[in-house]
Amino acid sequence: MIQVEGLTKDYGLRRAIDDLTFNVNKGEIVGFLGPNGAGKTTTMRVLCGYMPPTAGKASVAGFDIIEQSLEARRKIGYLPETVPLYPDMTVFDYLKFMADLRHLPEAEDRVDDVLEMVHMEDRSGGYIGNLSKGMRQRVGLAQALIHEPEVLILDEPTIGLDPVQIHEVRNLIREIGKEKTVLLSTHILSEAQQVCNRVLIINKGKIVVEDTPEELQARLAGGRRIAVRVAGDPQGLDQLIANIPGVSRVLGVLTNGIDFETDPGNDVRPEVARKLVASGYDLLELKPLGLSLEDIFLELTKEQNEEIEEREEDELEESEVGELEQDEKDEQKEG
Ligand code: ATP
Repeated sequence: MIQVEGLTKDYGLRRAIDDLTFNVNKGEIVGFLGPNGAGKTTTMRVLCGYMPPTAGKASVAGFDIIEQSLEARRKIGYLPETVPLYPDMTVFDYLKFMADLRHLPEAEDRVDDVLEMVHMEDRSGGYIGNLSKGMRQRVGLAQALIHEPEVLILDEPTIGLDPVQIHEVRNLIREIGKEKTVLLSTHILSEAQQVCNRVLIINKGKIVVEDTPEELQARLAGGRRIAVRVAGDPQGLDQLIANIPGVSRVLGVLTNGIDFETDPGNDVRPEVARKLVASGYDLLELKPLGLSLEDIFLELTKEQNEEIEEREEDELEESEVGELEQDEKDEQKEG
């Protein structure tokens, strides 16, 4: 549904996104994750046709975002980070206005439909200015849905909401995601874990990793901290596990199992399972512990940040050497 190839956007000398390539398949909810300034909004704006890319290409529902911009935009519902709403309009009038702008036939029926979708039928006569932030976000979602787009692009849809509203909006996205393809940006990693089928992590304009939230966690946590739970008395379990090659230490003994740590890059779980069962323990659970998506994110971006820093230092050194050489030449000339 969304195909992006080599997408690059420069703001003057600043490269905001750098050679991005990714796809979002029909029916997926994909989370676009990254810290502030990573390039999420820029990517979304380019996809929505708000501004052209510097290089690369992208298509939405088969339509090229530059060559067939109008068709592509008809397929996209966009919820910007700050939704431009008119506080003096009622919810109904605003949505009707948005429907008329898109020349939708039977606009009033469409407004009723989207109000139902975002569970705001009873607020249609209220003024937007009197709504809570969560309700306004729903109005924003309603306007993004008004023309029945196939693809929804949501820029930080839960930012600034209280926990109850966050919960409601996430539920709503999951519900809508059953019928639409959704690309949503967030820097809250647990949000991606709860809502998305797949995660793209972006840092400094580049995609660092692409995976399902579960696989990401398993991939990185597989060789770290592991929890073993057994039925019955776990006596002797710590000794047994401590002697398995690749286990670095036992972290704690509980009433129903133990937690232990492994050497990095060493997934000892199959061996632990075999040994436990062979020794007569009733194994209930064997799962990676502790690495949240936050940890994973830091881990993945650390390497990239170090590379970028090294490159910048090298460039600085080279330019300093260049300046020195130039100074020497100038001095020789003067001499
Ligand atoms: P946030 O989570 O803060 O919204 P983001 O991941 O959406 O961040 P972008 O807003 O796309 O990131 O910004 C990417 C980079 O481009 C940043 O370094 C930002 O300062 C820069 N940038 C964004 N918009 C402009 C602009 N209009 N002119 C110049 N630079 C810009």
